Amino acid sequence: MIIVMAMGATEQEAADVRDQLRQYNLTAHDNYGTQRVVIAVLGDVAPVRELLMSKLSIMPGVESVTPITRPYKLTSRESHPEDTVIEVLGTKVGDGSLTIMAGATILRGGAFKPRTSPYAFQGLGVEGLTYLAEASKLTGLPTITEVMEPSQVEVVAKHADILQVGTRNMQNYSLLTAVGKAGRPVMLKRGYGATIEEWLMAAEYIVSSGNPHVILCERGIRTFETYTRNTLDLTAVPLLHHLTHLPVVVDPSHATGKRWLVKPMALAAVAAGADGIMVEVHPRPDQARSDGEQSLTFDQFADMAGALNQIHEQVRTLIKDPFAMTGPVKVGGSSKH
Ligand code: PEP
Ligand code: MN
Repeated sequence: MIIVMAMGATEQEAADVRDQLRQYNLTAHDNYGTQRVVIAVLGDVAPVRELLMSKLSIMPGVESVTPITRPYKLTSRESHPEDTVIEVLGTKVGDGSLTIMAGATILRGGAFKPRTSPYAFQGLGVEGLTYLAEASKLTGLPTITEVMEPSQVEVVAKHADILQVGTRNMQNYSLLTAVGKAGRPVMLKRGYGATIEEWLMAAEYIVSSGNPHVILCERGIRTFETYTRNTLDLTAVPLLHHLTHLPVVVDPSHATGKRWLVKPMALAAVAAGADGIMVEVHPRPDQARSDGEQSLTFDQFADMAGALNQIHEQVRTLIKDPFAMTGPVKVGGSSKH
């Protein structure tokens, strides 16, 4: 449930609303917009919805009370109509600019690596984190790297600016709760077998643990197709912009698994309205210890980055407000609008 306070509503009126919610064992979560206060109600609203709605809607200072029927609350656009913009070391994600995670606007690198095979290179661990921190110091760029378990959160947060939760851990709820308390922005990659709704519920774990700075990253899902490593679901981009206020980034490297498919899919992602792109780049992909086949050379990356910026310029004028163009969206079986 969302309570929109009227413009000019007093602090006391908002406090009275919070008190009323407390009486029903519900929690109030405030969003301060530019114009007014919006209070999202967290907890088991269903049994008291009707009663509460009638009580709240006549309280002084309350402009409207709207039920949120989606199971994700804080991440839904209904509760927070304005886009979330995440700022790290002066770089903004989600503000309409194009973020390139690779070494352009944000540096990426894996230190703790989730490998399908226990015999594959597992990453350099903490030593790798220090290299990443050093690269950040030299370039002034913020960094992103993966954290695989709650016990690693502290050390990763010490060395990196953005914590990445990988596809295999999207529903690792203890990790989601831990990164929710880490005080660093989090990029949550879509589970390769996860629906959009499950993905947003996973993001809800992070936000409800106290961290509103979440970036979503579409990285391909598993389908019957085997030519590509995964199937890049670009529908997720406009769909997420409609459903949530969180920024959306696309990773065409892990989605396709093939270097020559990365540029066209990255361009398509930006054309679909993605806030950013994450790609794998290596000075000598044939010698890469992980994912060389999908890694771009520096030249290929530079060529792609130029093309992405061109597409982005065009798209900014063509789709200013992608979610406003769409009608009500039904996701899964449980959402109504
Ligand atoms: C990665 O980004 O390095 C990675 C392992 O990605 P994913 O979790 O999407 O497989
Ligand atoms: Mn990889």
